[in-house]
Amino acid sequence: MITASMLYSFSCCPHRVTLDLFGDPTVRDPISPFVQLFWERGHAFEVDTIKNLGVPFLNLRDVPLAEREELTSRAMVQGEELIYGGRISHSNLLGEPDLLRKTDDGYIPGDIKSGAGLEGTSEEVTGKPKKQYALQLALYSDILQRKGSALTRDSFIWDIHGQEVVYNLSERRGPRTPHTMWEEYEDALETVTGISKKAVETQPGLIGECKLCPWQSHCRREILRADDLTLITSLGLSKRSGFPPEIRTVQALADADIETYIQGKKTAIPGIGANTLRTFHARAVLQKMPNAIPYFTDPVDLPRSPIELFFDIETDPFRDLCYLHGFVKREHGNNDSEEFIAFTADETTPEQEKAAFAQAWEFVQEYSDAFVYYYSHYERTTWKKLARRYPDVASEDDVIALYEQPRFVDLYNDVVRSKMIWPTHSLSIKPLAKSIGFQWRDTDPSGAASVQWFNDWVESGNVTIWNRILQYNEDDCRAMRILADELRRLESS
Ligand code: SF4
Repeated sequence: MITASMLYSFSCCPHRVTLDLFGDPTVRDPISPFVQLFWERGHAFEVDTIKNLGVPFLNLRDVPLAEREELTSRAMVQGEELIYGGRISHSNLLGEPDLLRKTDDGYIPGDIKSGAGLEGTSEEVTGKPKKQYALQLALYSDILQRKGSALTRDSFIWDIHGQEVVYNLSERRGPRTPHTMWEEYEDALETVTGISKKAVETQPGLIGECKLCPWQSHCRREILRADDLTLITSLGLSKRSGFPPEIRTVQALADADIETYIQGKKTAIPGIGANTLRTFHARAVLQKMPNAIPYFTDPVDLPRSPIELFFDIETDPFRDLCYLHGFVKREHGNNDSEEFIAFTADETTPEQEKAAFAQAWEFVQEYSDAFVYYYSHYERTTWKKLARRYPDVASEDDVIALYEQPRFVDLYNDVVRSKMIWPTHSLSIKPLAKSIGFQWRDTDPSGAASVQWFNDWVESGNVTIWNRILQYNEDDCRAMRILADELRRLESS
């Protein structure tokens, strides 16, 4: 049977569908505590939503699976207004929509999600439907239409903000999406059906989703063995699919006469411009070089100031809370002067979040001549969000103006990604800092792990866990300092 969770997996990684169906379960990694927490939070949110619904509904969630489908069909025939936890199927399609709601055009499906209903929403822009949600809703809608229980392709999400977000599946997800959600569903269904019949083959690739996937260790071995193109930073699954048969490995790309694939600003490879292809080629060449050393492609000036601040925040996405603003402060380039300063929310309340933000804001005003280093947009984006939440601390314009000062340096976007070639498989701070000899004190340093620690701390109040979070954040800040020093060394060598 093709299920909604298969389509969800497909939207993250087609190979995940293959491995879930046919992979050797003995080579799966254990489910990560973060994923476990994600499931628990999702379940708790759903239970809470249903508990506070305030309208009558038929609850089939606890009915044994064998009877659930029959009872769902019967409830729809009887015209139940709202069905929770039903089960529907038609030929090889099986769905378990959280909600089935009666309308003038038959039943429409809905899901309860502990995330935002739209992606990319900001102050200025309304977000667009999420592909992974749309694929699941389309499967339910397809089953309902085939059964004659629905006349429309309408569906909806009840999201974490308490909003009902309408997903009209006949529409495109966004102005730049060439197909409607329904067409995307039909394509996905065809491929997933092909995978389930072993008529479609998939390959693993090194992508962001691997970090939380139980097949990570297995796939990583395969990817390294195959010398797969996704070992090159930013070369993901869709870009890989456009490469010609003679360039299927990092070695082949490194050996290729790349200019023969380039004409002006375009290339013979769909979706990849001339400069991007040259960058991928340069990364491939460096990866294959013994004892490779990263280098600059453009001049970079990383001036020193008497006081330097290396800045990193920690957030809890489940509580939508920024609870730690950490700084490593160094004076006159002297590492012995290093000091870790953290502004923290000691409780998960808006008051504590605001107080921590206010202290961190004051701190960077106090050191108004200091250069402030951070890694990627996350700190800036989070501070803008905090300013919208607590405008009496700072306005959003204040935050934008602060980060536009030349003394605020995004080491990732301003330097590493745009003006350098590294031999690493990723440009995240961890592989880069490790490649130049820095070691985190924690045995499992990762953003996902820190979210789980924070949750454990909230639930237990265990000081040891809190200290682990502080130590992890301090090491993230210090890794940035090590990286900045290495960049200066490379710059002058
Ligand atoms: S580890 Fe990565 S490539 Fe393998 S199935 Fe998971 S997401 Fe896909």
